[in-house]
Amino acid sequence: MSAADPGHILKDTALVLRIAPVSNTSRIVQWFAVEHGKIATLIKGAQRPKSPFLGQFDLFYSCELLFYARERNHIHIARECTPLARRDRFRSDWRAAAAASYCADAVARLTLPDAPQPQLFRALETTLDELAEAGATEAALYWFELKLLEAHGVQPRLDACLDCGAALLPATRAPHFAMARGGLVCAGCAARGERGEPVASDALAMLAGWQASASPRAARLTQCTARQLGAMETLLGRFLQTHAELLPNSRSLALGLLRST
Ligand SMILES: [Zn+2]
Repeated sequence: MSAADPGHILKDTALVLRIAPVSNTSRIVQWFAVEHGKIATLIKGAQRPKSPFLGQFDLFYSCELLFYARERNHIHIARECTPLARRDRFRSDWRAAAAASYCADAVARLTLPDAPQPQLFRALETTLDELAEAGATEAALYWFELKLLEAHGVQPRLDACLDCGAALLPATRAPHFAMARGGLVCAGCAARGERGEPVASDALAMLAGWQASASPRAARLTQCTARQLGAMETLLGRFLQTHAELLPNSRSLALGLLRST
């Protein structure tokens, strides 16, 4: 029961999701770690001039983290951390920083503590790398949302009609999206039964391609019109809200900044 009981020591690779002050010099850092999922660590005296943690962690860094596991209150104690990727662009490019904040916020909201999600870890890490290297684009965020939904087990079905199974891409007739069922219904089935919302088939074809892509680079390099991006924003936003109960302010903030000149 001793407060000084250090617990056992663990090591992981982790991304910094959030940093919260607990005093003038101490911080609670929320991490998304490969093997431990979302965890929080206390870093005592993190801001003191002689702290070994000074400069070793910041928002959206990848770090090698050593920590003492605490079973009781879910706040572990950081022992050591070493940055593996700093992603310096986020310190000067506010659009990229807002986009990264949305991605980190979405992961923090959709994950439970101490539950590893290596697929989602890779999606977040890949997206942060992309944003840090090439700057933020709306398309890269939509790629991330598709991967977030896939890791959450609720990705939209964009390749075939939910009712008759007919392949819909490349679409020749405007399909309908049945939001509650999470997928497309062909024009024929929509005329006979449930009518979804009409969606732009060109934007759907892009999203279907990005679903199959392992990197957001493909999305960034796709030439999208403002109309197509607007269709994706609406479709994915409503999908996230319906199937993941996720509609954070950080999303509209990031998308608003990306559209401002
Ligand atoms: Zn059909």
